[in-house]
Amino acid sequence: MKVVAIANQKGGVGKTTTAINLAACLAEQGKRVLLIDTDPQANATSGLGGAVAPGGSLRSVLVGEKLLREQIVSTLFPHLELIPSELELATIETEFAASESPLFHLRKALLPLRQAEEYEIVLLDTPPSLGLLMANALAASDLVLIPLQCEYYALEGLSKILDLLHKLGTIDEAGRTRILGILMTMFDVRTNLSQQVVEDVRRHVPDLLFQTIIPRSIRLAEAPSHGMPITAYDPSSVGAISYRHFCKEFLTRLSG
Ligand code: ADP
Ligand code: MG
Repeated sequence: MKVVAIANQKGGVGKTTTAINLAACLAEQGKRVLLIDTDPQANATSGLGGAVAPGGSLRSVLVGEKLLREQIVSTLFPHLELIPSELELATIETEFAASESPLFHLRKALLPLRQAEEYEIVLLDTPPSLGLLMANALAASDLVLIPLQCEYYALEGLSKILDLLHKLGTIDEAGRTRILGILMTMFDVRTNLSQQVVEDVRRHVPDLLFQTIIPRSIRLAEAPSHGMPITAYDPSSVGAISYRHFCKEFLTRLSG
């Protein structure tokens, strides 16, 4: 089982869109996938149509009331399961802060799942902040996927998150948090800026950049309001094709 956190401390860069659509593409490939929504905004939860079976809550797991396994709910999509989030999850950071090992709650909760190997891939959607929820997601993960929006401040944001991962890497006693790669999102073919940003990132971190680039597409932005990944909402759209393409690259890198 591989746990991959989708992280960037900046909001609106395509973390949740990538989490939902990558999860759906992996499931489409027959992979057993669990998506854990660690963001109190719960956008990944609502973007998958909430949950088919109600009641799952990451919060109850992290406060130690329930087992993680008991909070897994099915989605409308085969092989894809979810641990939903909710706004109340936000209050957990104060509880974490008062606890003995504030960074490792999620990692501990995931241990039984790792041993059982029921899932091949666990994706963690993370909040856009540097708080304890994000730190828990990073400490629980084997690898980190960084979505980066094709915009002027992309490189600045990138150096911040790389710096953060570097620092957090030192507190992960197993030293396991590693970067799987950087995915450029919301590429706008009509502007030179998008192209230039991609080239800048490629120059800085050539090995980290995924070849697939996710274009800006209105269909991708519409899909969550219908509670569906793009592969279900508009299977032949450019967004669906891009995320399927990315999924292949993701799997190759994951096994490499
Ligand atoms: P984050 O989780 O990093 O905050 P989101 O995935 O929620 O970012 O994306 C922010 C907004 O941009 C959302 O409204 C989403 O629908 C939209 N969006 C994300 N990716 C794309 C894309 N490739 N094309 C068009 N809109 C996108
Ligand atoms: Mg999000």
